[in-house]
Amino acid sequence: MIYSEDEHLMISGIQHFVFCRRQWALIHIEQQWEENLLTADGRIIHENVHDSGFHEKRKDIIYTRGMAVASPTLGVSGECDLVEFHKSDKGVPIFRYGGTFDVIPVEYKRGKAKEDESDIMQLTVQAMCLEEMLCCDIPYGFLYYNETHHREKIILDDVKKQKAVKILHEMHDLRQKGYTPKAKRTKSCNACSLKEICLPALEKSKNVADYISKYMEDF
Ligand code: SF4
Repeated sequence: MIYSEDEHLMISGIQHFVFCRRQWALIHIEQQWEENLLTADGRIIHENVHDSGFHEKRKDIIYTRGMAVASPTLGVSGECDLVEFHKSDKGVPIFRYGGTFDVIPVEYKRGKAKEDESDIMQLTVQAMCLEEMLCCDIPYGFLYYNETHHREKIILDDVKKQKAVKILHEMHDLRQKGYTPKAKRTKSCNACSLKEICLPALEKSKNVADYISKYMEDF
């Protein structure tokens, strides 16, 4: 299947979807958003990194920031914080720099490595877009965390790529139906930037449920 540009999902939405499907739907289907300290922090990190169109070559590596990427077959588009092109014998030809290069995406994140796979899935989809655009294989990329100042090497194998495809199918399906999953309180809710919007609905539905069960007891 080939998706039109109108149908494209934002790659950055994958992290929301993996964190909580409802959070993704509130932002990307219902366009609701509340900035808190955590999201503001993340946005500033990305603004600093995303110097779109910047590229330079140092020794055998070309650094490209804010590279626009898309995949019509996955139906996604977005930007990569940083793509490194490392000179190698079997990589992608870049005539301007004379030679062939391996393609390595690097995504910058606030905090430290997460327990869930939200960052990994985002990086995986960026790599899949680059693979489609540049006709190459990308076996690994990096996640850089500003709290630990550490780059974590992420192996981008078929298992992760298949999982990413499954997630994207689910996202397309929900968006097509315009369906926002119901609120379900989990430990993720404490760190959620949308809890003020989302949880009152949960509280309300709880009260209704309580009311109904109490009403039934009265009979
Ligand atoms: S408050 Fe909880 S259920 Fe609601 S969007 Fe956030 S993480 Fe999801």
